Amino acid sequence: MTCLMGAQSTLRRVSQPSIGPYVRLPASVEPWDPRALEVAAAVTSLIHARRPDLVVEHIGSTAVPGLPGKGIVDLAIATTPDDVPVVAALLGELGFGPQPGPDPWPPSRPMLVGSLIRDGTTFRIHCHVLPNRDELHRDLAFRDALLADPALVEGYAALKSGIVEGGPIEPHQYTYRKQAWIADIHRRLGVERLPITPPATIGLLGGGQLGRMLALAAREMGYRIAVLDPDPACPAASIADRVIVAGYDDVGGALRLADISDVVTYELEHVATDVVDAVDAFRPVRPGRLPLHVTQDRIAERRFLESAGVDVASWREVRTAHDLRQAATELGLPLRLKVSTGGYDGRGQLRLTDESALVDALARLGRPDGESLLVEAELRFDAELSIVIARSVVGRIATYPLACNRHDRGILVESVVPAAVDADVAARAVQLGERMAVLLGIIGTLTAELFLMPDGRLVVNELAPRVHNSGHWTIDGAATSQFEQHIRAICGLDLGATDMLAPTAVVNLLGSGADRPARLEAVGLAHSMADPSVHLHLYDKRRVFERRKMGHVTATGSTTEEALTHAQAAAAVLRWSGGDDGDGSGDGEGGRVGRA
Ligand code: ADP
Ligand code: MG
Repeated sequence: MTCLMGAQSTLRRVSQPSIGPYVRLPASVEPWDPRALEVAAAVTSLIHARRPDLVVEHIGSTAVPGLPGKGIVDLAIATTPDDVPVVAALLGELGFGPQPGPDPWPPSRPMLVGSLIRDGTTFRIHCHVLPNRDELHRDLAFRDALLADPALVEGYAALKSGIVEGGPIEPHQYTYRKQAWIADIHRRLGVERLPITPPATIGLLGGGQLGRMLALAAREMGYRIAVLDPDPACPAASIADRVIVAGYDDVGGALRLADISDVVTYELEHVATDVVDAVDAFRPVRPGRLPLHVTQDRIAERRFLESAGVDVASWREVRTAHDLRQAATELGLPLRLKVSTGGYDGRGQLRLTDESALVDALARLGRPDGESLLVEAELRFDAELSIVIARSVVGRIATYPLACNRHDRGILVESVVPAAVDADVAARAVQLGERMAVLLGIIGTLTAELFLMPDGRLVVNELAPRVHNSGHWTIDGAATSQFEQHIRAICGLDLGATDMLAPTAVVNLLGSGADRPARLEAVGLAHSMADPSVHLHLYDKRRVFERRKMGHVTATGSTTEEALTHAQAAAAVLRWSGGDDGDGSGDGEGGRVGRA
């Protein structure tokens, strides 16, 4: 008897399949393999041996006989939020590991990975653990539609082979390029992902001018707004239903924001990553945590861009004066030295033109000794361009026409659309921007700042996972503003048309003179607005000071030159009053609103 039991348990051990490690591979499309069904059944019985109550569903392409695919066996277990960590731990005990890659599913909806060998072939396995059945019913409906409809299988197979036509591709690209097609089928089957519906609350991390214009667009659509900003009088405050006064690194404040929001977005990259990670655990953060991690650190961003095979200026990471001298020897002068985190509008960077400037450069940036900084060759570009790309929840992409931008000492002063570049340049910019949006998994908007080089190359200067100053033209000059577009995307709505309605120019209104309360001088305002092609956008900043972005004017015209002439003329007559209690009618000590 004892002997028999022993034999049984040995037998059991021998026949128990063991889950092996997972390998991340480029995506290629292979014919359907019937052994995938055996793998799914084997894993299911492993799970059932521990938790017979769990329903394990085989989803994805390997569940559909005849459908080619990557060959990954996708399994889904829908349970309750409290049970998710318990099931994840059980899968861990079976040999499954955490999802690799920079942008894993959150702990509230993890995907564990592993593999199983069948007749000498290694099958990779994704185990999705879901806190409810919302997502699963979509996957099951799609699977069952494929099982019932050979024409659908054929269409899906054709889509897949089209994606990998040129050879294996990045797994990201593969997944995202299927998404929009699948979303159409979901819609047809009546199981589409439903949007966040007004009057839901959108949480904004950051309440500057971008937050304000996002809030205005959201308000028009009937959404409510909660803002987190350290300044209770920030530009977005007057548009918000709730303002949480807290720093961009205040996890508690961010969780309070998340608590009253249905979706959270950010208007600047300088939000601490642990803030976003904390919010992400229980509210969707869009455009996402990965884009923020990558773009808030210029060095991480350069590494990301290089790993994606994108051209960037030659650069070095430097921590000491010695490193800087070494970089100057290797890269030559002039150089641009930039803080890796926290810089904006040309702040936190220095232009180094000669050897003597290197000596105290690190000290002049005013950052702690030993901090890692980015130094790069100054490029002589033909033009600065930018492109705003929007990507929806289901992976649809809409891209705005290219803007051509002029900066003065690092700050954007003028932007015109369309940029006067060859169609080939514009097409490459679109391709590049879309690829970045896919690689970063953007849900919302992404802006790529580009240098157009004399040889036609496009060099990426920086990425911003958000709306952008160079996209302000879209409010008055495009079918859908970048702000509305961002709100549509983060709320799970389809994207609006990105067509340009007319050539458009934006001139930024920069502050000048001493720090003082901000009020526009009335005569200048009247004169600027006498031009009917001009639109004024002020950000309601309480104080004006030298080179502060206070607002912008937009003009449309039959050509970009005409639009720019109108916008420049309007900006040139706008002035800031000088006195604290001025009635706005006199010049006072007011300075001209700088265009540069
Ligand atoms: P910010 O975050 O302040 O926008 P950027 O790195 O975009 O910082 O720099 C601001 C501006 O400075 C750019 O738009 C460009 O005009 C100029 N600039 C920055 N880096 C370079 C470079 N390597 N070569 C030439 N100009 C540069
Ligand atoms: Mg920039």
